[in-house]
Amino acid sequence: APKVIGLTGGIGSGKTTVAHFIEEFGFPVYYSDERAKDIVNDNEALKIKIRELLGDESYDNNGFYDRKFVAEKVFNDNDLLQKLNAIIHPAVRIDFEEWVKKQSKYLVFKETALLFELKLNKQCYKSVLVTAQDNIRTKRVMDRDGKTYREVETIMERQMPEKDKIKLADCIIYNNTNLEDLKEQTERIIFEIE
Ligand code: ATP
Repeated sequence: APKVIGLTGGIGSGKTTVAHFIEEFGFPVYYSDERAKDIVNDNEALKIKIRELLGDESYDNNGFYDRKFVAEKVFNDNDLLQKLNAIIHPAVRIDFEEWVKKQSKYLVFKETALLFELKLNKQCYKSVLVTAQDNIRTKRVMDRDGKTYREVETIMERQMPEKDKIKLADCIIYNNTNLEDLKEQTERIIFEIE
């Protein structure tokens, strides 16, 4: 079986950019958050559970997950959010395990924003954290998403502090400069993992 490397970082850290570089270097990446969005539409057993938990309106007339309805429903209900996560996360985990079985490289990467929060690093051989100064991350997200300073800051405040992630990570990529530097650090880390 391949070694699984967890890849994470807070909002705007550059983890998706790093993941794309990793693919350019020839290593497969599983995008957990992207896959989670597909699974809520494709996995019939999961769809039934979500309907049971949040009601039939969780899916629109065409059978597609109504992200807006669900977000509003769980927004101020932490207990319900936990219950929703408790059915989605195991489904993603199973999907990941099926994906891993199909890979032939000796290293595969699992990109997820919640690597440490969900303690998924315990199921990985090594963890890689992408980090950058808060003000740099904020500016990048404002440019990318057209969000305001305050909106980005609010999201950031809800995430695990960088200093805690830095303590937990096996390898750290500091993304404070340019894309060339980021790519070089990514390459170095991939080929140093043994
Ligand atoms: P999120 O969790 O918000 O999805 P992320 O960690 O996946 O963020 P990216 O989307 O990879 O972060 O990067 C955020 C934005 O910053 C993107 O628009 C990306 O192109 C840009 N970016 C990332 N790193 C750099 C860099 N070193 N120089 C310039 N722009 C960068």
